Amino acid sequence: MEYPITRLRRLRYNGILRNMVSETALSVNDFIYPLFVCPGENVKNPIKSMPGNFQFSIDLLVEECKVAVSKGVKSVLLFGLPESKDEHGHVACNSNGIVQKAIVAIKAEIDDINIVADVCNCEYTTHGHCGTIVDGDVENDLTLVTLAAQAVSLAEAGADIIAPSDMMDGRVAAIREALDANGFYKLPIMSYSAKYASGFYGPFRDAADSAPTFGDRSTYQMNPANTDEALREVELDIAEGADMVMVKPALSYLDVIHRVKTEFNMPVVAYNVSGEFSMLKAAAQNGWIDGERVMMEVLTSIKRAGADIIITYHALEAADVLNR
Ligand SMILES: [Zn+2]
Repeated sequence: MEYPITRLRRLRYNGILRNMVSETALSVNDFIYPLFVCPGENVKNPIKSMPGNFQFSIDLLVEECKVAVSKGVKSVLLFGLPESKDEHGHVACNSNGIVQKAIVAIKAEIDDINIVADVCNCEYTTHGHCGTIVDGDVENDLTLVTLAAQAVSLAEAGADIIAPSDMMDGRVAAIREALDANGFYKLPIMSYSAKYASGFYGPFRDAADSAPTFGDRSTYQMNPANTDEALREVELDIAEGADMVMVKPALSYLDVIHRVKTEFNMPVVAYNVSGEFSMLKAAAQNGWIDGERVMMEVLTSIKRAGADIIITYHALEAADVLNR
């Protein structure tokens, strides 16, 4: 049928009708809210490059988690700023570590919350790389040992999901094996499967104090030019036991999200990263865009591309819009 019999505008003439035929719906259940935890008490350090985000000491982190849960955002992703760092990131595996203590504190006060624990060395190494350095580069198989120990330590603290973000080959298998050997066979792994070496991580590195002191991460993170390789990464992670797979960043990689969802029919997570967040905020603060409208459009586009779950610094603001 063609015009004038078919008129696509018929289904756009009022809001109820438009909502009825809407193909994509966001929900507060889709969001994971990333948070940064630092030492001290009563600390709430604004992160300059990420307006509205803070480094929280554990006491105030717990309060922020309560706010999130009250808005319906019941999953949080924790990144730690440890008191000290070392060459190998061993401090990440300490039961007394900053994230481990934060998990215990949150769980003591909040029942209805899902804590995703990031597993990577870069926040805990003096050189800021994601693993152990040998001859000027991250040594893959040595790093697996630390990652597995960190994962077990986070599981013991009470994490609900283990999320390795390092991009070492074989880390999902190493972590799965270590978790199972320690009785944590029920704990799911959310793998950062297709994580690109991206300029969009800039503000995060301020927030988490995790910028590499030499070189960059392009020997382990992916080349932004590649998508076939992303599918190979995802396939390997699934074979190694990943329960959820992630594409990071989100916006410049919507095609990758779409391909991963279409090929594997797995729960797909997209990380709407710091640079994506901060660009939007900066434009909104300058009055160049309608920040709230563009935020909802961005989040909808990530879900429309195929993501089931979105890690986003917009989580609480978007929840306010959805709850309105
Ligand atoms: Zn890392």
